[in-house]
Parts: sequence; structure tokens; C-alpha cells
Amino acid sequence: MLKVEKLSKSFNGHQVLKDLTVDFPEHQTTVILGPSGSGKSTLLRSLNLLERPEAGKYYFDQQIFDFAKGISSKDTLAIRRQTEMVFQGYNLFPHLTVLKNIMEGPIQVLGSKKAAAEVLARQLLAKVSLADKADAYPNQLSGGQAQRVAIARSLAMQPKYILLDEPTSALDPELELEVLKVLLQLSEEKKSLVIVTHNLAFASKAADKIVFIENGQVLFDDSKQAFFAAEQQPRIKDFISAMT
Ligand code: ATP
Ligand code: MG
Repeated sequence: MLKVEKLSKSFNGHQVLKDLTVDFPEHQTTVILGPSGSGKSTLLRSLNLLERPEAGKYYFDQQIFDFAKGISSKDTLAIRRQTEMVFQGYNLFPHLTVLKNIMEGPIQVLGSKKAAAEVLARQLLAKVSLADKADAYPNQLSGGQAQRVAIARSLAMQPKYILLDEPTSALDPELELEVLKVLLQLSEEKKSLVIVTHNLAFASKAADKIVFIENGQVLFDDSKQAFFAAEQQPRIKDFISAMT
């Protein structure tokens, strides 16, 4: 279980998250939508403690942390391990092959044996349809392929949650589809995902739950069926029609 309660975060006196409460059910895909500048990335980064709200509670499984009191570096590491953020593909290690990129975390951080890490890495490469790229280097990949390797690398760490911030924003439509296909598959496998996206078509397929944020506040938090329902509040109707 992952939940944040009454989060407040300001940058230079400008409040970006305002008493924001939202939970992210396990084994579900939560899609975060909202206009530019509404606080989506700040929220996502707070989930992985890259951002520290000034106030609010952070619930993870049986544990409760209070941002106002701070979170120790030991607890931070433990939480980060369970909430992997997928960064854009260019975050791969350039001097390591695709296979080694995926093996690195399990070996260095989780203490996996090399052979076991390689078996897992090959399984994950097959899952993201890149089995044939095991020996390629990151600079030999397309943007979509690099992004899929980044997803495989996160999966290799076997976190409880995977967080993605506009995972396809840098990609051409064709490459975007390859990545969305992988994410849809993970969603169907009931991985616990939190995805910020502007792609409503994808949200309507993959989301179990949609959270709509505006001005640092939650305007909507319910199923995708409710989100796309005809009797939706006018602000969200406007957003949907502007995006489609
Ligand atoms: P987008 O859809 O454009 O990615 P977003 O919803 O992800 O937008 P955030 O990146 O969370 O929005 O930003 C919310 C607000 O906080 C914006 O006004 C932004 O300028 C501000 N902000 C975010 N990070 C910082 C920072 N490190 N320093 C100062 N201001 C910041
Ligand atoms: Mg953003």
C-alpha cells in the first residue's frame, strides 16, 4: 500500500502541492492526469522521495512517515528500492551492454548472483521484446528501445511500485506505441504502476484508477469509467475535449 496524505510542497514561496491526499492501490495502474504545471511530476517525485514536501504523511505498507519530521536516509533507501522511478532511456549506462545494464542493479544493490541476474535480465528483455538486443550498447538503440530497456531495468529490481513520468513524451508516435504496449502488458499482469501521461487513449486502456490534478489539488480520484463518463464535471470534460 502506498498513500500520501495532506502533502504540501512549495518552491520559492509558490505552493505546488496543496494538502494533497491520494492513494495508489497495489496491483493496479494509477494514471495521473492534469494540465501542465499542475504538480504531477512533483507528486510522482515525492512518492520516491526525490522531492521532500514540507508537510504530509507517507504511508508505505505498515509504515507511516511524517515529512515534517523528516525521513532518515536508511528509510529513504528502503522506500526508493520499493518505488522504482523509470527515467527516460538516456539514463542507461553508456559503457555497458543492454544485458549488463539490466544485471547491474540486482548484482550491485540486491546482491544477486551473476548467473541468476543474467537469467532474469534475459527474461525481462524478452518481455519487452528486445531479446535480440542483449549485446547492443545503449547508443545503438532507438528511443523506444532505450525506454523499454529502462523499464526492464526497473523491473529487475523487483520493486513493489514502478513510477513513470511521461514515459513516451520524447518519442515519435510509432516508437511510443511499442513502449505503451509494454506498459499495457504490465498493467494487465497487475503490476503496481503509477504513470503520469498526457495520452488519454492510453489512460483509457491501461488505468484502473485516474487521478486528475489541477493547481496542486486532486480534482478527481476514481475509476477510468467514472472519469470518461458522460456526466463528468465540466472542468474535466473540457480537459478531455481539449486533449482529444
Ligand atoms: P508538466 O505537465 O508540464 O510536466 P507538472 O504537472 O509535472 O507539469 P510540476 O513539474 O510538478 O508540474 O511543476 C509544478 C509547479 O512547480 C510548476 O509551476 C513548476 O514551475 C514548479 N516547480 C517544479 N519543480 C520546481 C523546482 N525544482 N524549482 C522551482 N519550481 C519548480
Ligand atoms: Mg511533469
